[in-house]
Amino acid sequence: MCLICDRINMIKEGTNPYFVKELKTGYVVIGDNQHFYGYTLFLYKNHEYTELFQMPKEERILFLEEMTKVAEAVSKAFDAEKINYELLGMGDAHLHWHINPRKYGDLGSYGNKGRGPVWWYPMEKMYSNETRPSEEQLKELKEKLLTEFNKLY
Ligand SMILES: [Zn+2]
Repeated sequence: MCLICDRINMIKEGTNPYFVKELKTGYVVIGDNQHFYGYTLFLYKNHEYTELFQMPKEERILFLEEMTKVAEAVSKAFDAEKINYELLGMGDAHLHWHINPRKYGDLGSYGNKGRGPVWWYPMEKMYSNETRPSEEQLKELKEKLLTEFNKLY
């Protein structure tokens, strides 16, 4: 079982409330938790590869290009001072980018005066229920991102 595949199946069934937009190589979704306001993910369309280097070159270039476009839209939509990009996968190996809009100081007193990586912020705070967007906030996040993306591309 793969959480990302499950979420993609929900998109296909029209039941994923976080879904923003389908691109050629993947799906843009808003993150479940929003400590970093505008946190977005870009999910590769299938589970065929688990490493960038396994992908045929043309597919990889397109995947990276589309991820970059998503990052630009996230940056503009949510007024980021810096975008942080992460492709991890120890939890779910399915290729998925974490796109975090950062502002200096957004880690509070954690991690190099707020300039450290997102994972220097305590996990139990980052993923607490208080950082889950309400239905209304989620609608606003999706609209902002989609508007910016469509303006750019
Ligand atoms: Zn998967």
